[in-house]
Amino acid sequence: MNENLKRNFIDIEPYVAGEQPKKADFIKLNANENPYPPSPKCKEALESLEYGKLRKYPDASGRILREVLGKYYGFSEDEVFVGNGSDDVLALSFRAFFNSGKKILFPDITYSFYPVWCKLMNIPFETVNVNDKFEINPEMYSDCGGVVIPNPNAPTSLSMGEKEIRKVIENNKDSIVIIDEAYVDFSEYTAIDLVHEYDNLLVTQTMSKSRSLAGMRIGMAFGQKHLISVLSSVRDSFNSYPLDTAAQALAIASVEDDEYFKNTVQKIKNTRDENIEKLKSLGFTVLRSSTNFIFCTHEKYKAKDIMEYLKTKDIYVRYFNKTRIDNYLRITVGTDDEMEMLINALEGLIK
Ligand SMILES: *Cc1c(COP(=O)(O)O)cnc(C)c1O
Repeated sequence: MNENLKRNFIDIEPYVAGEQPKKADFIKLNANENPYPPSPKCKEALESLEYGKLRKYPDASGRILREVLGKYYGFSEDEVFVGNGSDDVLALSFRAFFNSGKKILFPDITYSFYPVWCKLMNIPFETVNVNDKFEINPEMYSDCGGVVIPNPNAPTSLSMGEKEIRKVIENNKDSIVIIDEAYVDFSEYTAIDLVHEYDNLLVTQTMSKSRSLAGMRIGMAFGQKHLISVLSSVRDSFNSYPLDTAAQALAIASVEDDEYFKNTVQKIKNTRDENIEKLKSLGFTVLRSSTNFIFCTHEKYKAKDIMEYLKTKDIYVRYFNKTRIDNYLRITVGTDDEMEMLINALEGLIK
């Protein structure tokens, strides 16, 4: 290649997702996917999709889905936005709302896609250190060009309550606060109702984790009309048909099967809590999880060694080679059987 061409290229280090192993038989606890299938209603929706209908473009704004979501969460359809996973929704939000030229703030230990988007879009940013228990101090978020915080946070699994979230929103009246609620369904507190109260709050959620639809790419945002309208303008300046016909149909079916959704989430929470105790009895220090994953460390065994050992047993967990958390593992909560195999494997190493 002509070396001069390179000067035209963007210099960017992309986000790296949890490995998708090629082998058939393994236990995959490294990407916070749901171990259970989506609702059977989604299967019906997929099977009754009209093949001939695929020749047409999908409904551009996902209007029916937005109506269904609005009804479920108590919003009008113009307070709801949908996109290809919350990654898409978040990326569009960064573009839409972080334009003041001032630095935006997010925690130092958090979703590692945020700095990638900032670099891609030339958004100045600064990270705010979580304390040595990995907790976020809401007082430290002010005087900036915007805030993005996952609640619960990833990969720490810790959640903030209403008081802390209100503090962040109120300390930033003149900029946009995005609360990324990717794991909220496994948690105790959602800020979604605060949307009615604050004109600077955007809450994003996803169907990838709690609704088992990671493969379909469905994310959503809730905010007052003026925010959703800017977000829609950015989408329409980039790719005006974000959610395909199949994704819209399955998303609607998922919301309509509330019982399945609630049962699945409860099963995962039970499995999580039982296995946190088991990990503790194996000598792990485990953070209090409000998510579908467990963030833990072991005094005697290095996290990286445990991760590699588990890989030899065909069990994949997530390890981050990053300061402050490089001796921690993030383990997705699987089925009871998968978790039993994980604990058995760990017993083989530790006892
Ligand atoms: C998984 C995740 C997302 C993105 O989820 P999508 O699959 O793109 O909907 C966003 N934020 C956090 C913190 C996540 O863990």
